[in-house]
Amino acid sequence: MADQTAEVIIIGGGITGTSAAYQLARRGQRVILLEKRFIAAGGTGRTGGIIRQHYSNETTIRMALHSLKVWRDFDAVVGGDVGWRRTGALVTVDQRDLEGLKANIALQRQVGVQVDFLDAAAVREVAPYLNVEDIGGAAYEPEAGCADGSMAANSFAARARDLGARVLQGVTVTAVTTAHGRITGVETDQGSFSAPVVVNAAGPWGARLAATVGFDVPVEPSRHQISVFHQPAGALPTGHPVILDFVQGFYLRPETGALSLVGSIEASEAANQVDPDGFDEHVDMDFNLDMANRTEHRLPLMGAAQVGKGWAGLYDVSLDWHPIMGRMPGLEGFICVFGWSGSGFKMGPVVGEMIADLATGERRCPIDPHPFRFERFAEGDLVRGQYAYSIIG
Ligand SMILES: Cc1cc2nc3c(=O)[nH]c(=O)nc-3n(C[C@H](O)[C@H](O)[C@H](O)COP(=O)(O)OP(=O)(O)OC[C@H]3O[C@@H](n4cnc5c(N)ncnc54)[C@H](O)[C@@H]3O)c2cc1C
Repeated sequence: MADQTAEVIIIGGGITGTSAAYQLARRGQRVILLEKRFIAAGGTGRTGGIIRQHYSNETTIRMALHSLKVWRDFDAVVGGDVGWRRTGALVTVDQRDLEGLKANIALQRQVGVQVDFLDAAAVREVAPYLNVEDIGGAAYEPEAGCADGSMAANSFAARARDLGARVLQGVTVTAVTTAHGRITGVETDQGSFSAPVVVNAAGPWGARLAATVGFDVPVEPSRHQISVFHQPAGALPTGHPVILDFVQGFYLRPETGALSLVGSIEASEAANQVDPDGFDEHVDMDFNLDMANRTEHRLPLMGAAQVGKGWAGLYDVSLDWHPIMGRMPGLEGFICVFGWSGSGFKMGPVVGEMIADLATGERRCPIDPHPFRFERFAEGDLVRGQYAYSIIG
């Protein structure tokens, strides 16, 4: 039997776990990644793949910017194809939210994000196909883009393997093992694995796993749908900007083959709680209809779009819509990184670095994960942005 000991065991082969495996392998750590199904089987394989810097607190803006620099040059920095396409992004708000938007833009610019405020007339110059009648203004981020979740996680996993990590698919972790207040490894359906450090990157399953060793992490899996629309001929230019529309409460990104992927950005998404091992993975017809109406309002030429297949995936929504990332108190060697609340894909590159810092104790990443510690819930020190839009961070 192959050696089942490592310095770090990672549970979960999504973008979080594979990026961590890559970064830890780069640092010479002996890593085993255990994935119960296949790479990108969870939220990562269902992601909308939008990569924007539009956040409303400094730490998340810095994380998104740090990651963008990797996404746009992935092959040179990491190696492999992630399907990156630069499209730009427009974040639209109504009059009521204008001051908040401007404050966010100022903060983003301070951190180094390339972003401009556009009034409704200027929005029409960037995107003449938009109805701007109910728009107060927009943030325009020309550097934003999209990538493919499955390609990205598989690229990180492949590079991790090249550097010596063992990436095992079809292995389910059934328990985290401990002795005398320390991690000793994990039990799986294929035997036990030992390591002094275990990273729980199990996304929507993460809270369940943490509960087996006594942690009550306020993260719930919720179902999130994406509608796929076939654009009518000539309705939208190829590679048009991603639209994040806070007035109508939806996002739309361009996909190859003249497709548009459309989802909701309403905080009520958190209410769709489901069992992560048994939920409807198809899109609902009434959801398609709802998204079609919102899309047609903002992009009238999309009124003639045809409905494609669509799908549903899982968000892991935390109490404050921000992840839990840190060493867990009272159990040496246990690191939790989940609860991305629907926006963790874009953060993949930086998160691998932050996890590697947590696992090795050696700080190389410029961003400190302290705000995301589990203890913040008990301390009442939740992570909040300046926006009312909890879902966007
Ligand atoms: C429809 C949809 C649209 C989205 N759009 C965007 C977007 O546009 N931009 C963005 O940044 N983010 C977006 N997100 C969010 C983003 O995709 C997720 O936050 C991110 O992919 C989560 O990655 P992860 O690796 O933390 O978790 P996951 O990808 O869920 O990976 C967890 C993995 O753990 C495995 N696992 C679970 N339990 C066990 C076990 N016991 N043993 C072994 N393995 C286990 C699972 O099989 C799974 O593969 C979207 C998500 C969805 C669902």
